[in-house]
Amino acid sequence: MAAAKQTLNRHTVKSTGDAAQPLRCARWAMSLRASGYRMTAPRRAVLAVLDHAQGEALEALQIWDNARRSYPMLGKATVYRMLERMESLGLVRRVHDQRGCHAFVAVDDKHNPLLVCLRCGHTRVAPAPVLAVLSDLLLREYGFQISPAELQISAICPECG
Ligand SMILES: [Zn+2]
Repeated sequence: MAAAKQTLNRHTVKSTGDAAQPLRCARWAMSLRASGYRMTAPRRAVLAVLDHAQGEALEALQIWDNARRSYPMLGKATVYRMLERMESLGLVRRVHDQRGCHAFVAVDDKHNPLLVCLRCGHTRVAPAPVLAVLSDLLLREYGFQISPAELQISAICPECG
């Protein structure tokens, strides 16, 4: 598996799949800089944690705790402000759990609903047809227009099912 990934990285430069992973932090940093945000060491530490989480939603305090391992002086306010900024840029989304708390997950797609595993918390963006079918049906039958960025579908993931 590891060997296959290395081969991919060496021979293909695609914007999808595993080969894109090392580029994610750079892409986020670029979006943040374009929005007038200076990229400092503590902010990079936060990006690295979000990148490493790979679909696991983390609460702000967990992100702070993990990022402090590489940047011990990191303040909580930096993490909160950065998450807000990244959310407004569509780089992270809030995930709501059963206790009503929320966590954050990095996403490459802000237009489709989130699928969240009730058992392990693994989170991914639902494929586009899910939204198309759902929004068609709800608009036609009930006149409701979905707000996809807010939509979260609780489910059991293949690993937990
Ligand atoms: Zn699961």
